[in-house]
Formats: sequence, C-alpha cells, structure tokens
Amino acid sequence: MRERQDVILGGGLAGLSAAYHLQLAGEDHWQTYERRSRVGGLARTVDVEGYRFDYGPHILFTIDKEMEELIRDLLGDNFHAQERRAYIYHQSEDLYTQFPFQAHLYGLPIPIVRECLVGLTRAMEKQARGDFDPQNYEEWMRGFFGDGIAEHLMIPYARKIWTVEPSTMDFSWIGRRVPTPDVERIFQGALTDEVDQVGATAHFWYTKQGGIEPLPKALGERISGLNLDRTAIRLELPEKRVVFEDGDIVPFDQLIYTLPLPFIPRFVANLPPEVKRACEGLRYQGIYCVNLGIDREAISDKHWIYYYEDAFPFHRLSVPANFSPDTVPAGKSAIATEVAFSEDRPLDRETAVEKTIEGLIAARLITADDTISLVHTEEILPAYVIYDLQHASNVATIREWLLQYGIRTAGRFGEWQYFNMDHSMRSGKRAVDEIVAARR
Ligand SMILES: Cc1cc2nc3c(=O)[nH]c(=O)nc-3n(C[C@H](O)[C@H](O)[C@H](O)COP(=O)(O)OP(=O)(O)OC[C@H]3O[C@@H](n4cnc5c(N)ncnc54)[C@H](O)[C@@H]3O)c2cc1C
Repeated sequence: MRERQDVILGGGLAGLSAAYHLQLAGEDHWQTYERRSRVGGLARTVDVEGYRFDYGPHILFTIDKEMEELIRDLLGDNFHAQERRAYIYHQSEDLYTQFPFQAHLYGLPIPIVRECLVGLTRAMEKQARGDFDPQNYEEWMRGFFGDGIAEHLMIPYARKIWTVEPSTMDFSWIGRRVPTPDVERIFQGALTDEVDQVGATAHFWYTKQGGIEPLPKALGERISGLNLDRTAIRLELPEKRVVFEDGDIVPFDQLIYTLPLPFIPRFVANLPPEVKRACEGLRYQGIYCVNLGIDREAISDKHWIYYYEDAFPFHRLSVPANFSPDTVPAGKSAIATEVAFSEDRPLDRETAVEKTIEGLIAARLITADDTISLVHTEEILPAYVIYDLQHASNVATIREWLLQYGIRTAGRFGEWQYFNMDHSMRSGKRAVDEIVAARR
C-alpha cells in the first residue's frame, strides 16, 4: 500500500488553480490526477483541419483583481482585450438589437418598446411599494424588469438555454450574470442606439493564438505533481482511498474534488440515503456544440448572437474568427453554435446538424449556396447547473458529508455553481485557503 497523499482530482482550471496556490503556500507535495492527456477540462480548444473551437466559445472577463492578475500573467503577450459586439436576432422582425435586450430596445417596433417600458414602470412602482418578493426565476424577471421585457425575450430565452420552465428555477445565481442596467439607462437605450455597452462582458479578453487552451496550459506548466491519463473510478470511505482505473490505490489525507457533484454515487458505494437523494436531486443540462467551417471570409462582424425563438435549435452562435483570426484558416469562416439539451428536452443527434444549418440559413447567416467544408460536433454534459428550488440544500448536504472525510469540492461542477473560468480558479484557491487555515 502506498503512503498517504494529498490529492486533487481533476486538472481543469479549478484543480490547476488549487495545485498552483498550494505550491505558493508551501504545500508542494500534492498530487493532481487528470483523466485526459491534456489539462484544461472545459477550457480546452480542439484543432480540426485548421479550425480551432473551444468547448463552447470561452471569453475571459472578471472583477476579481487577483484572478485578473493571474490570468494576465499566465497569458503574457498572448492576450487581446476587445469590446463586445453581441446581438439578439429577432426573426419575427428580421432585425438585430444589441445585447443585453433590456438595455437596447431601440430599433424594435414601437408597440414592443412601449410594452417593455410600461411593464418596467409598473414593476418599479411595485418595487417602490415593497411589493417585490420573487419566489422563482420567472417571478424575478417579471418583478425586476416588468412583464414586457420578461415576455418578449427573457422568458423565451430562459426556456431555451435552461431547457426547463423558469418558474421551476431559483434566481440566486443571477448576481452580475443577467445585466441589470438602471432605469435611466434602459430608457436611454430605448430612445437611441448611441449608448455605452453595459454588463460584465462589455469588455472581454481572448487570446491572440491557440483559442482558450493556452490559459490552463500555462497554469499546468507551473505545477509539479501533475499526473495525466489517470482516471479515478472510486472513492473508498471511510478508509479514504482513491482507486484508479489502472488498479492503483492511493490513500489520502486531504482531497480536493473538482469532478461533477452528481457523479458522487458512481464513486462512493453505500452513501447515506439523504446524501444519495441529494446527489440524485441535482439537475443539469448539456450543450451540443455544432461547429461549422464555411468557405467564405468574414461571414459576420459580430462576436456572438442570441436566438430566443423556437425557429432555431441553438440559443447562441459565435463567430470565432472575430475573437481571434487565428481560429480559422485564411479565407474561411467558422460558426460555433450551442444547442441545449437535458432530460426535459432530449437531444436529437440525428437531426441536430441539419436543423442547425437550416436555422443558420433561416437567420440569413449563411445561404443555401455556401459551402460548408467542416462539420464538427462536441457534446458537453454536464454543461450548466440548473438551479432548481432544491439546489442550495442538496449541494450543502453533499458537501458537508464529504468534508468529514477531508474532501473539499471545488470548481464549476465540484461546487455545483454557475461558475465562469475566473470563478473556478477562485474556487480552487478558496479550497486551498481553507486547507491552509485548518492546518495552521
Ligand atoms: C458551453 C460553455 C461555455 C462556457 N463559456 C465560458 C466563458 O465564455 N467564459 C468563462 O469564463 N467561462 C465559461 N464557461 C465556464 C468554464 O468552462 C468553467 O467555469 C471552467 O472551465 C470549469 O473548470 P473546472 O476545473 O471547475 O471544471 P472542468 O473544466 O470540468 O475540470 C474537471 C476536470 O476533471 C477531469 N476529470 C473528470 N473525471 C475525472 C476522473 N474520473 N478522474 C480524473 N479526472 C477527471 C476532467 O477531464 C476535467 O479536466 C463555459 C462553460 C460551458 C459549459
């Protein structure tokens, strides 16, 4: 039997950040195990026939100064700050408005603008009377922005991306994710197009070369004790042992788990019933990425576009060449679309590509005469955590139970939160801070 180790499971950004910050804290004996032959997890980039696609396009933005410093340091010269060009397509009107919808009503038909502004005013009156006590995400949208904005865009879009009714969702995740411009700015954006961008992604960063993967790659190069191609298959508790696919058994003292929380029952036998129930209660959706290479230059000047109408299978498409020209061969374009699926809305793999192409033609992004020289698909599951109304209590039950065995969970799927890359890196560091504080 091996000696006890301190272990990190998963070499995505959370696991790598944990390993890096442990080293900085002088804890340089930790071992990180990653099942793939490359680090990065969701923040990897795939190269196909001269095209580069992230696992769902990944842009960088943060208000976390410490993570910003780390990201800038990791990317060095391979860093490109950009101003967002993000839009919403309205097929019913055949027009684009700028993202976010509520801050750029200008250009929509007058009756829709009127409905949105009247709804907003009524919502504000209610808020002023103290009549704002939303119990779910739909009530939050209606109560915060009013019925017009909620019904014209936010509710249909929420159904599309989350695959479930927003009335069955909690809204604790919103934070800065749903841009919440002030009323004056909403009115300004209804009267003119000459307004500043709002929201966390108004300015974002991407690499000049290599897609998003140079970020985790650079972090991986800074850490020692990295074990690639090592798949954990079991956690033996209370013995505190990790069993790997290759038969190796590693006893651990402390462990940072960055794999999906709902997979705990696959790893741990004989879970207490309440923990098993909590794991089974966690809900998520997946993203089917349909990536296309088109034999035409400069297919769009936009970074990304949202599609809330049912005519389109995808809820978002991105134009990777506008993030970085390095992502497409000379003279070509690429389109990366994202189709959400879940138990509530199963994915039809047979027709997803065909329907996506039909949708792109209907949206007039491409024409029937365009040559599609590459079709590349990736399935991400889980992709987004669904915040149902039991989310917080289920997550707390599982994490508290694991902690008694020295297992801390971190990252988007370990903490089971809507985390971006910066949050996942922060989460890895948070686990380290706790470990270091506990040891002292
Ligand atoms: C479609 C999509 C788009 C996104 N866009 C953005 C964006 O624009 N900007 C942004 O900031 N964030 C974005 N994110 C979020 C971002 O990808 C995540 O926050 C971050 O990459 C998560 O890192 P992580 O380490 O927590 O998890 P992961 O990246 O999932 O890492 C977990 C690691 O564990 C490994 N692993 C799994 N099972 C085992 C096993 N049994 N044994 C050993 N290792 C194992 C995996 O291979 C993986 O490397 C997006 C996410 C998705 C799904």
